[in-house]
Amino acid sequence: MDCLFCKIVNGEIPSYKIYEDEYVFCFLDINPKSNGHTLIIPKKHFKDLNDIDNDYLFKIHETSKKISKLIDEKLNPNGIQIVQNNGVIQEVKHYHLHLIPIYNKNDKMSVEDVYKMFTK
Ligand code: AMP
Repeated sequence: MDCLFCKIVNGEIPSYKIYEDEYVFCFLDINPKSNGHTLIIPKKHFKDLNDIDNDYLFKIHETSKKISKLIDEKLNPNGIQIVQNNGVIQEVKHYHLHLIPIYNKNDKMSVEDVYKMFTK
């Protein structure tokens, strides 16, 4: 299947991976809305919210707690917004949850420099 995020899960396309387990893969968004903008995706391909099965949906949201704590620890934002797009506003047709840190004041860093903070 010609899916960008399946290729990322399979390592065919590089990514700034910050976490993975048997069910999920988490990586930094390449075009972030803020420092630490992270995507959580299921390792199995599902198109969107209507398509994803409940076990994977649970795993993704369970992981969102873990990643939210990790973002707090590494980047200390003032909040974290969670977004999931479907239909015409969904650019990549492989289910993904956005974790978008919100800052009162923050200078935008490169994704590479943010990634270094996660791997420290
Ligand atoms: P959505 O509009 O919810 O489908 O969002 C798709 C997101 O995937 C956007 O925020 C993109 O910046 C992000 N994205 C696209 N290609 C890549 C990539 N190769 N690595 C990381 N993030 C990506």
